[in-house]
Amino acid sequence: MRLNHKFCVGDKIVIASHNEGKINEFKTLLADYNLQIITSNDIGIKDVKETGKSFQENSLIKVKSIPEEYIAISDDSGLSVTSLGGRPGIYSSRFQKNCGGWFEAMERLYSEVKAKKNKDFSAKFTCCLSIKFSKDLIYSYNGEVKGKIVWPPKGTNGFGYDPFFLPDGYKKTFAEMAHSDKIFIDHRSIALKKLIKLHLSDS
Ligand code: IMP
Repeated sequence: MRLNHKFCVGDKIVIASHNEGKINEFKTLLADYNLQIITSNDIGIKDVKETGKSFQENSLIKVKSIPEEYIAISDDSGLSVTSLGGRPGIYSSRFQKNCGGWFEAMERLYSEVKAKKNKDFSAKFTCCLSIKFSKDLIYSYNGEVKGKIVWPPKGTNGFGYDPFFLPDGYKKTFAEMAHSDKIFIDHRSIALKKLIKLHLSDS
């Protein structure tokens, strides 16, 4: 059992995910650190049910699905629209499925806000990342990007809700930005920087 909370260059790390988009994002963000990145699939771990009530609870469920002997990283993320009380939030992925697709989900959210008196289109992406060194040594970090939802959706890069999310301080939606630029300013990268600062040896 690991007693320290550091990983170092060359270590094997499991990304507790089956989402190709996220896995590739992690591989790019971690490319400089020469880690051996493998995924849940590589060690035969099936997708787990997200039964938590918060991003952190879901991210802990995912990281705990990886056996004790591995260092593992997981994330749970989503889009929260202010005037919709934070919806779809932890249900971002399920909401899309219930709507029948990404375009339909974005259209639903946008029109719900448009129908409101205050027409507050502000929204944020949140990510909670967890890293597990052993079953009792687990740490979680949050990252957030604030912005607003816009209509019509613009851009073809990225995934999910990217085409109708305009981050504060930028003139392009996440999907109009080059994906290689977006991933270095998004909620996942903000959380990952905190994790690397505290857990990568000599960083
Ligand atoms: P989960 O973390 O696997 O439960 O899924 C998160 C869901 O949130 C994704 O399927 C997307 O719907 C949405 N999401 C999270 N991060 C992003 C992002 O960077 N861009 C677009 N959509 C995202």
